[in-house]
Amino acid sequence: AIILGIESSCDESAAAVYDGERGLIAHALHSQVALHADYGGVVPELASRDHIRKLTPLIERVLAEAGQPALTGIAYTRGPGLVGALLVGASIAAGLGMSRGLPVLGVHHMEGHLLSPLLEPAPPAFPFVALLVSGGHTLLVRVDGVGRYTPLGQSLDDAVGEAFDKSAKMLGLGYPGGPALARLAESGCADAHDFPRPMVRRPGLDFSFSGLKTAVMLAIKAAPDTTAARADIAASFEQAVADTLVAKCARALDQTGIGRLVVAGGVGANRRLRAALESRAARDGFDLYFPRAEFCTDNAAMIALVGWLRRTDMAPGIAPAEAVARWPLAELTPPAAVS
Ligand code: ATP
Ligand code: MG
Ligand code: FE
Repeated sequence: AIILGIESSCDESAAAVYDGERGLIAHALHSQVALHADYGGVVPELASRDHIRKLTPLIERVLAEAGQPALTGIAYTRGPGLVGALLVGASIAAGLGMSRGLPVLGVHHMEGHLLSPLLEPAPPAFPFVALLVSGGHTLLVRVDGVGRYTPLGQSLDDAVGEAFDKSAKMLGLGYPGGPALARLAESGCADAHDFPRPMVRRPGLDFSFSGLKTAVMLAIKAAPDTTAARADIAASFEQAVADTLVAKCARALDQTGIGRLVVAGGVGANRRLRAALESRAARDGFDLYFPRAEFCTDNAAMIALVGWLRRTDMAPGIAPAEAVARWPLAELTPPAAVS
């Protein structure tokens, strides 16, 4: 089976082709970062309009790169995300399915992030524990198979990516803040500030990042207005986040007795976090899996992959174009059995 994947949940337009036999055969992405930069964040209406402009050329490009394959079906991101942005991808997928007589499936964006390490050459076996750290989510999930997800913990307030973005803004860095903050942190000293490691001492697997954000704000106010001082704050913030995430992941592995950890979502691209997880993995003896950095953030490769894994869920006939802003991961069920 060969699946076309379409992603438009937020500020990246993307298309990809996944072939069950050859794996990922083409993928392309257009980031709207420059479009939203002046506003300091994603402007939903501008995002929707840009998806309309960019998605069709991206789809044509990946189909050409893949050698105009005989598609089996189309998978698009149905949610969660910005409804207007999602509707663009959903409508294009539905229209394309109708005109080509192909089945269409709406897939879960976070399931895409969760399973993205399966795009890599040495994928994790089930079961594994997944840490999803993105702009809108901070989740620990037990994964027993495709569609078999048990939430273990989540953020009670800000998502980690959000904490990165807000801290970056306070440090005078542009949007999106995560990568900019990480760059600034490279020249800083990670133990310059002893920021809180939120909820590490408390039992359980939930997270909280709003207190850390406040600590960063107070440190900025007290520090001299120099790049060196800001770099120290950035590095100390990153270290506090990394220590917190590592501690909770180790606890989740311990509680479940699982020896495999998957880390996905935009913040998974963070170098300091990766290094901290790698040293803990070596110490505790668990296996660690990441998607390649470009597939940590939003992409269509992960959507095409989920479409392929769920190809038995693709019903023939005309599919409605659906978009949902909220969609709990725990509502997903395993794909229909192959008949
Ligand atoms: P969601 O998937 O929850 O709907 P999203 O799609 O916006 O949210 P992603 O694209 O997975 O999230 O990730 C974007 C987030 O990752 C942003 O908050 C960004 O600042 C952060 N991020 C990206 N690269 C890095 C990095 N190197 N270090 C820290 N944070 C990063
Ligand atoms: Mg994005
Ligand atoms: Fe995402």
